[in-house]
Amino acid sequence: MNIILLGPPGAGKGTQAVRLAQDLVLPHIATGDLLRKNVKQGTQLGKEAKDYMDKGLLVPDELVAEMLRHRMSDSDVKKGFILDGYPRNLNQAKTLDVLLKDLNLEIDSVVYLDSSESVILQRLTGRLVCSGCGSNFHIKNMPPKKTGICDHCGGKLYQRTDDKEETVKKRLEVYKQETASLIKYYESKQKLRRLSADEDAQIVLKKIIQLAKEFDDSLKV
Ligand code: ADP
Repeated sequence: MNIILLGPPGAGKGTQAVRLAQDLVLPHIATGDLLRKNVKQGTQLGKEAKDYMDKGLLVPDELVAEMLRHRMSDSDVKKGFILDGYPRNLNQAKTLDVLLKDLNLEIDSVVYLDSSESVILQRLTGRLVCSGCGSNFHIKNMPPKKTGICDHCGGKLYQRTDDKEETVKKRLEVYKQETASLIKYYESKQKLRRLSADEDAQIVLKKIIQLAKEFDDSLKV
């Protein structure tokens, strides 16, 4: 099963993608995580990307495309994948089409997680991320059992540098300008499935799995 999660920052793509990947036993490919890993390791790509990320801007398409091609060529992707944070504009969507064709893969379904701006701001400014496994927590909505420590792997939790209120607002602006148009793109390909993501994370996860199963069943008919 090849799934893209689409939606504004803070809609819960990361949270849902980690859980979906566990439930469906598929690799979770998040361009944001891959970029942060490069920044942390101080690679050339990381050095070039950091400034854009801290400002809430998109990293240039060519850099992200190269990184994604590399990851998508790994053998574990053949059994399926959950793609999170890519594509983010029309150019990236077309790049992805070419990449998937080259790899003989196809997107099954694009799940669009819709969320209101007030929920997004509240979620992102209180978000905590695990430095070990990338799981997301929230100071109020989803606190870890032990303060500052990941429930799943015991890793240390941190706040992302781009989760400050000002940067979150910039990311939302970029989303509206660049990413929102992708809804139409995938709608016209009849791949888009919409979901309200303002509800509790567990309920949203159930809905996504339901959608994915319906899709899987329709393939078997
Ligand atoms: P969110 O979806 O909550 O904004 P991500 O972790 O997906 O968080 O992305 C964080 C940052 O990484 C983005 O603001 C952007 O700078 C960069 N980034 C991630 N994915 C892409 C992409 N596909 N194209 C360009 N930049 C990206």
